[in-house]
Amino acid sequence: MTTAETHTFQAETQQLLDLMIHSLYTHKEIFLRELISNSSDALDKRRVEGLTDEGIRSDDDGRILLEVDTDARTLVIDDNGIGMTRDEVIENIGTIARSGTRAFLEQFQESRRGESGSAPELIGQFGVGFYSCFMVADRVVLETKRAGSDEQSVRWESTGDGSYTLEESDRAEVGTRITLHLRALPEEPNDDDKDFTKEWVLRETVKRYSDFVEYPIQLEVERDVPAENEDAEPTKELRLETLNSMKPLWTRPREEITDAEHNEFYKHVARDWNDPLCTIHFRAEGTHEYTALLYVPAKKPFDILDPGQTPSRVSLYVRRVFVMERCEELIPPWLRFVSGLVDSSDLPLNVSRETLQHNRRMEQMRKRVVRKVLDALGSKLEKDRAAYQAFWDDLGFILKEGIYLDEAHREDVAKISLWQTSAQDEPTTLGEYTDRMVPGQAAIYYISGRSRRAAESAPQLEQLKARGIEVLYFTERIDEWAVQRLESFGDHKLISAEASDLELPDEDGDAGSERDKEREARGEELADLFTGVQKALDEHVAKVRLSGRLATSPAMLVADEDGPSQSTVRIMREMGEAAQEPKRVLELNPDHAVLTRLVALYGDGDPSKEFEEYCEILYGQALLAEGSPLPDPTRYATLISEMLVRES
Ligand code: ADP
Repeated sequence: MTTAETHTFQAETQQLLDLMIHSLYTHKEIFLRELISNSSDALDKRRVEGLTDEGIRSDDDGRILLEVDTDARTLVIDDNGIGMTRDEVIENIGTIARSGTRAFLEQFQESRRGESGSAPELIGQFGVGFYSCFMVADRVVLETKRAGSDEQSVRWESTGDGSYTLEESDRAEVGTRITLHLRALPEEPNDDDKDFTKEWVLRETVKRYSDFVEYPIQLEVERDVPAENEDAEPTKELRLETLNSMKPLWTRPREEITDAEHNEFYKHVARDWNDPLCTIHFRAEGTHEYTALLYVPAKKPFDILDPGQTPSRVSLYVRRVFVMERCEELIPPWLRFVSGLVDSSDLPLNVSRETLQHNRRMEQMRKRVVRKVLDALGSKLEKDRAAYQAFWDDLGFILKEGIYLDEAHREDVAKISLWQTSAQDEPTTLGEYTDRMVPGQAAIYYISGRSRRAAESAPQLEQLKARGIEVLYFTERIDEWAVQRLESFGDHKLISAEASDLELPDEDGDAGSERDKEREARGEELADLFTGVQKALDEHVAKVRLSGRLATSPAMLVADEDGPSQSTVRIMREMGEAAQEPKRVLELNPDHAVLTRLVALYGDGDPSKEFEEYCEILYGQALLAEGSPLPDPTRYATLISEMLVRES
């Protein structure tokens, strides 16, 4: 055996090591993921090279072994992968060749300069490889023997303080064994100071980060063996247990996976109790290869409304190794209820969120993912309306955001969206609505309301109802946002029933213009009265005129064609902009007795207090009928009680 040679680390390596040791306190457990990934890669390499080189092939199955010595506080990660020669150790473990690590260093220094305090978070975003073990260990020994080489095995050792030693080792088996001498835990450990000699800590960490690694990750555990004689003490037995499920479900052919397997897997990834509504599993081949396995929940995930959640439940894997959870680049926010993963064959393991942001591959993957999810939802809607509707009741309002936010998918989302309607109790699709349109109807009509009941009784609908025209009830906040962008569906415009210039097909197919003329003539006769009413309500009302669409209600309010629409104003308000309620047009029912009374009260054109109060009551009624709040409810109540007494 030769004596140990001492080598100094490349400057950047030392920088990284210092960082690991002194500056990073969170996500320490990722060191295990990094070492296991290295082992898994080494096993992959041995398998691939072994295909053509008998000297490299192994008779044993690939495995990753974890060994713990509680007293000595050591943790060993041992694999029978490809191993390294002496030169390879110097090259791979002594220098930083990876651009990801450089980027990490730069980013870290920047964040320190800016004192943004985000530095410890960075470690979770970058894969920082082998060196991350110095976060938990103060001495690391690596012994390795290269497959297919006669070279003596090598022993590398370092305390991470600027240098490492190299010497020959007596390891006889091919593969790599890394011994971590774990740092002592602080007296008051926090959540990130985990004891990696504890079986449950290893179990949990492996499950979280490396569950789907293809090779077994084994741990030697002590178990009680019940004695045969009932009175005797149980004996202890050491046995190897595999900690990972090794079931990369998504790598198996689609048709071989059962629903039960999907359900179990879904519950694991989504932490849900219910079975998913849709399972989406596809593989993309060609220049960029990846597999996606995604699930649409049947019910609202418990934390979907938590504003602190990142808008993605899709993880990124690279060659079966978990790389990033809640990856926002893979799914748009309006599909934030979809959970699952995308496993890329081509991305580097050490991708960072920053490098993913403008990555063309990510964009392509995201596009395809969205397409597949929308297709799956569309087919669910067609084949199992009841289940789709239950999903919709819980999550439709999120999906509908897509209409507003995503121009490229606007039409597609609109197609699978459901809306409350006057035609039936169950919500309808826009396609179904257009199938039910009456002869001569060109547009899709909607009305906004706080609730279905308020929308239903809105006086603005009387004219539409009389013609048998169906009206969509926009009862969700998102509906108004959506319609701002959607504007039309197929050839059919979406028109608010509150619009003042509704062009409707004739009620009985004729004489429309005849009636219009009559109304116009009467309107002219009453022009003075209307000026009086408008003056009395000047604060709220822009114009007063006769209505062509009221059947039973005395009056209603419609949008002024010269002002902004009601929904625009509501949206501006929601965005926190100070928007004045636009003055609207008060339309009076020409056939209602209220008009006769108004004429009487107006008298010879010198409006009395009584007339003004009557106008106020009329205006309040119009507001109440459409479900809007009154500007001054107390005053309204007083006016009504006074009137009640007077009338009696
Ligand atoms: P990365 O794995 O991202 O390349 P690391 O710092 O983790 O970066 O490892 C550097 C290199 O060391 C690896 O690319 C690999 O060549 C070698 N290596 C690390 N661990 C092992 C191992 N268990 N078996 C064989 N080679 C290894």
